[in-house]
Amino acid sequence: MTYNAREVALRQLARAADRIDLEDGIHEKLKYPKRTLQVAVPTLMEDGRMQVFTGYRVQHSMDRGPCKGGIRYHPDVSLDEVTALAMWMTWKCALMNLPYGGAKGGVVCNPKQMTPCELERMTRRFTAEIIDIIGPEKDVPAPDVYTDAQVMAWILDTYSMLQGYMVPSIVTGKPLSLGGSAGREQATGRGCVCVILQALGQLGVPIRGARLAVQGFGNAGSTVAKLAAAEGMRVIAASDSTGAIRNESGLDIPALVAHKAATGSVAGFPEGDAIPNAELLELDCDVLVPAALENAINADNAPQVKATVIAEAANGPTTPDAQAILDEAGILVIPDILANAGGVTVSYFEWAQSHQEFFWSEAEVNERLGAYMTRAYDEVALEARRCGCNLRDAAMDIAVGRVAEAIRIRGIYP
Ligand code: NAD
Repeated sequence: MTYNAREVALRQLARAADRIDLEDGIHEKLKYPKRTLQVAVPTLMEDGRMQVFTGYRVQHSMDRGPCKGGIRYHPDVSLDEVTALAMWMTWKCALMNLPYGGAKGGVVCNPKQMTPCELERMTRRFTAEIIDIIGPEKDVPAPDVYTDAQVMAWILDTYSMLQGYMVPSIVTGKPLSLGGSAGREQATGRGCVCVILQALGQLGVPIRGARLAVQGFGNAGSTVAKLAAAEGMRVIAASDSTGAIRNESGLDIPALVAHKAATGSVAGFPEGDAIPNAELLELDCDVLVPAALENAINADNAPQVKATVIAEAANGPTTPDAQAILDEAGILVIPDILANAGGVTVSYFEWAQSHQEFFWSEAEVNERLGAYMTRAYDEVALEARRCGCNLRDAAMDIAVGRVAEAIRIRGIYP
C-alpha cells in the first residue's frame, strides 16, 4: 500500500472522533485545513540560473490560538505531507494545552545540494510569498527537518524589514542573539527523554543501562542520544540518511556528535559497526527512537520490532497498521504528539519571552518544560488506563476533545 501521511492523519482523526462521540459537523470541519497556500519561490542560483521551488504553508486550525508549526526543506515535501504535519501540530498544541492551533510549511528542495547564499535567497523569497498569512498573532514558524536557527533568522529579518521594525516573535527556534530561548535547541530531545524516563519507570525497566536505538541523528535524535546517555542509558545504535552504526557496549555520543559535525554523517564512525539502516529499527533494545521522517515503522517491519518502548521523536513515524501490530505485541508507543512536544512547548516559552522582552534562564526553561511534559504524560497515561486504550488513542482523545470544545464554545462564524 502506498503511504500517504494525510490519509494517516485523517484515519487517526476519524478514530478519535468515533471514540469521543464527536459531532459530525466538528469532525467535518477538522478534516480540512483552515487555509492552504502554495507558492512559487523563484531563486537566483550561484551559476546565474533562476530555479523555481514550490513552497507550502498549511494552517490547519486557529481554533485555540495562532497557528504554530515548523518549516521543512526536503526533496520529498508534498502538500499531503505538509497538511498531515499541520494537523498533527493542532493536536500536539492542544495536548500540551498551549494557546495555539497547528500549521506547517515546507519547500520542495534539496538543501544539501544548495549553497548558504542560495538557501538564504530561497528562504527570504518564501517568507515574502507567505507573509500575508504569517505573523506573531497569526502563524509563527519554527525549524523542522533541514531548517535551523539560521533559517529562522533569515525569516525574522525578511519579515522585520518588510514591517519596518524588528519583530522577534514572528518565529521561534531563532538564535539566542535575536531573542531565542535558552534551551530551545535541545527542547525536543529533552522532552522526549523526559517521557522515556516516565515510561520506563511505569514499566519498571531500570534506567541505568537501558539500551536505546536512535533512527535519525539530527537535532531531535542526537539530543535524545546525548541526554539519554547522560541519564545512564546505553545508546547501542544510531543512523542518519547516509547509514547506520551499532555498538552493543554503547556509542560514545559526544564523539559521534563530533564525527557527524566533521564528516556530515554518522557512517564511518570508527567505534561502531556499520549495519543496514533498516536493521536499526529491528534491534533488540529497550527503547527505539524514530527521529527521522514519517512511515519508518510500517506493516512490513513492525512484526520485527523488538523494543519495549517506542518514543516517537519524529512526526508520524508509525503507520496505523503498524500501531495495531505493536499493540498486539505489547510494545508501548509514546505517540509523536506527546513524545516530541518539548520543541513546541519551549517554542511557546520563547514566543512568550519575545512578547515580554524578558528572558528566562536555561534552568527555568528546562524546569518548566519538565513540568509540562510530566503533566501531559500523566494525563495521557491516566486516560489510557481509564478507557483501556493505547497512549496514542488517549492522547488523540484529549487533544481532539480540547479543540472541539473551543469550536463549540466559539460557535461557527457568522
Ligand atoms: P534534522 O534535519 O535535524 O534531522 C533529521 C535527521 O534524520 C538527519 O540526521 C537525517 O540524516 C536523518 N534521516 C533522514 N532520512 C533518514 C532515514 N531514512 N534513515 C535514518 N535517518 C534519516 O531534523 P529534526 O528537526 O531533528 O527532525 C526530525 C524529526 O523530528 C522530524 O519528523 C520532525 O518533524 C520531528 N520534530 C522535530 C522538532 C524540532 O524541534 N526540531 C520538533 C518536533 C518534531
